[in-house]
Amino acid sequence: MASVIDGKAAATAVLADVTAASERLKREAGVQAGLAVVIVGDDPASHVYVASKGKRAEACGFRSVQHTLPADTEQADLLALVERLNADEAIHGILVQLPLPGHLDASSVTQAIRPEKDVDGLTVVNAGKLMSGDRSSGLVSCTPAGAMRLVRDVHGEDLSGLEAVVVGRSNLFGKPMGQLLLAANATVTMAHSRTADLSAVCRRADILVAATGRAGMVRGDWIKPGATIIDVGITRIDAPERGPGKTRLVGDVAHDEAEAVAGAMTPVPGGVGPMTIAMLMANTVIAACRQAGIEAPS
Ligand code: NDP
Repeated sequence: MASVIDGKAAATAVLADVTAASERLKREAGVQAGLAVVIVGDDPASHVYVASKGKRAEACGFRSVQHTLPADTEQADLLALVERLNADEAIHGILVQLPLPGHLDASSVTQAIRPEKDVDGLTVVNAGKLMSGDRSSGLVSCTPAGAMRLVRDVHGEDLSGLEAVVVGRSNLFGKPMGQLLLAANATVTMAHSRTADLSAVCRRADILVAATGRAGMVRGDWIKPGATIIDVGITRIDAPERGPGKTRLVGDVAHDEAEAVAGAMTPVPGGVGPMTIAMLMANTVIAACRQAGIEAPS
């Protein structure tokens, strides 16, 4: 029976370190870390995420600022706001909540954020720094950074000799996750929708990371006995067994089958999800320390 990798407990530990770093920043540099979150439109799920990021930021001792713009905001107005936040010395981290309404070009908005303030780690500068191994000045995308922290909790810092397979190659998750595993000396395979014999590729993995958004796609017989499973996917499915109209969240891994084979695995929910928001706070305090010229936590 696989042991459970408790993302909530790991996130609590990260947040305690972030709060301590935020207090040190105030003490040593007289600076309060500032996080600005920009949301466009009224997508209810995005508003829930943004509200919880704001609350979490305040709990860490940050100044939290939310900019809520109407759904019909023009690209130029959104870019002008990003420029204002780029220039604002009290703001150390900027996050534009995705997805944006269809008429806006999300990529050019994301790329307009100053890399030093890009706490989502999505600018090409930060992606390039991760790729070239510059961890001292870059910021890493939050979900892969959180998933990697969970891998380290199981295997330690050095993954030499271990095979890692990442299923999914998005810029947001799969590609940076592959880079983090490679930097930790794992032998990495990136799999995706065009991979032949995906089950055989997955069975090679000592560390299997699934990020496709395909509920229950990874079956028990795709898993090497004793492997560590990081399930990133989140899909809401109908759950008639819980009552009429009820739903529940599931991951990319068929949980009950995998549990019988794997050595350790993340639950969904309660695995990678809580780590994402914790790493956003970690990136914000790192960015603020760097901008204030004091040593940043690692
Ligand atoms: P994308 O849709 O951008 O990427 C999905 C990837 O999965 C693509 O690379 C795609 O391959 C691959 N894929 C899709 N179907 C298959 C298949 N049948 N076999 C193999 N590969 C497949 O998604 P994201 O990376 O943004 O997110 C992935 C999942 O992670 C989603 O469920 C999302 O909700 C979740 N997520 C969770 C977060 C959290 O905080 N826990 C944060 C971010 C994401 P190809 O490139 O060939 O099309």
